[in-house]
Parts: sequence; structure tokens; C-alpha cells
Amino acid sequence: MSHPVSLDAPDLTGLGRDALGLLNDSELVIADLDGSLAVGLVPVAGAADLAARLGHRLVIASNNSTHTSTQLSRVLVGCGLEIPSGRIFLAGETAVREVARRYRNARVMLLGSVALAEVATAAGLVLSDAKPDVVILARDLELSFARLQRAVDALAGGCTLVVSNPDLTHPGPGGLPQIETGSLLALVSAAVPKVFPIIIGKPERLLFDAALAYAGADPSAAVMVGDNLSTDIESARRLGLNTVWLRGRRHGNSPDATRSAN
Ligand SMILES: [Mg+2]
Repeated sequence: MSHPVSLDAPDLTGLGRDALGLLNDSELVIADLDGSLAVGLVPVAGAADLAARLGHRLVIASNNSTHTSTQLSRVLVGCGLEIPSGRIFLAGETAVREVARRYRNARVMLLGSVALAEVATAAGLVLSDAKPDVVILARDLELSFARLQRAVDALAGGCTLVVSNPDLTHPGPGGLPQIETGSLLALVSAAVPKVFPIIIGKPERLLFDAALAYAGADPSAAVMVGDNLSTDIESARRLGLNTVWLRGRRHGNSPDATRSAN
């Protein structure tokens, strides 16, 4: 093992020797964004330092379904976190691209941001609320009751449901819960319980696979860094990745670094 890096920034100083050893040893470091590298798109203290130290070995895998990787990279770089868009893997963007790959030229009803709609059109999808083949559910901040009902109508009629991410909430200002895509899915599922959603984001494997493929890395040579035990850590361990769980850092707990059995 090479010498552990020492981080002096307050929010990441708790990483400790085991965690730093894992980061140093890994070909690829896959980091969650919200609650890990940043809070509300503002990098936590020490994140920029870590990104600079890890360089191209650091990628982001986030369940964000509002922004594109280009938008997010611009924001993060503006705050000193130098991560280019090619190293950012997002649930919303991945959902749209996956639908374009699985259902070529499909008619898609997209419940999502304008930015995601542009990604969909560029990927060859035909956006239409009339007789869609697929409904893509993402974190749509402009969502109306009428469009939600149209989506339910389409799903009741047999159309496929693809969901960017299953998170019910994410923490907002003052820690208040912000409605996430999973809460919208709960509403839709209550109305059409027989519809089986295809989930794209963590804890499913697509974002992990995309990050590993980008780096050409084996899971055992990669480490997942995140704050959510279920979506970041347990899912990564199932795939054979090493993990650094940033558990309860605000309460002074030290991170839990676990090497895979491989
Ligand atoms: Mg998180």
C-alpha cells in the first residue's frame, strides 16, 4: 500500500487511514454526490482537494435526475470541484439514454426537466404525451396533476414505466425533506399497482456498470464512496466493489471502509 494521503479539510478529515488506503489503492473511485462530495450542489470542504488528488480516477455516480452531466460539471467546476462531464454518471440522463438504447425511436412521455427532454430528443426519442410506448419518470419540478393523470392513463393501457431513481426524498435546506422521484413513483404505483417499474439509478447496477466501463476497471479494483448505506454501499458490495461509507459524519462517526472479498 502506498502512503495514505492526509486531508486537512474539515469535512473529509474523518476519512481515516483505512479509507484513505482504499482510495489510494483503487484504480477507480466512484463517489456519490449529494451528502458525500457536495450538499445542495455546493462541494463540502475538502472535496475539491480530494478531486484534485484523485484526478481522472474519480468519477461521480449520482441519482440526480434533474440536471445533465454537462450542467452539473459546470456548476461543480465553478465551485472548484474539477470533474468533467464525461466522469459524471447521472440517473436521469442514464434513464433517457437507456430507453433510447432499449426502445429505438420509441414514443416517450417524459416527466422530467427541459434539460432531460433535450437529451431525449438528441438520443432519437420522440417525445409525446399521446399514446406513448414508454413513460419516463424523473424529478419533474413542473409536474402537473393533469400530466400525472395522463401518465397513469398510459400505464393503465399497458405502456412501459422507466424510473430514474427510487429515492423518496433528499435533504434540502435545514435538512427538510425534498420530494424525490421515488415519492412520485409511490403515487403512480398506488394508482396502477400492477405496473412493474424499471429502475435505473442506484441501488440498481447501471450507474456502477457505466462507471466501471468508463475506467475499464474490475469491481475489485474500484471503491464506492457514499453516505447512503442502502443505495451506495450495500449495492456496491453486492457487485464486488470496495466501499467507504461516510456514516453520520456530522455526528462525528468515523467512515467505515470495507474491502470486497474478491
Ligand atoms: Mg448521497
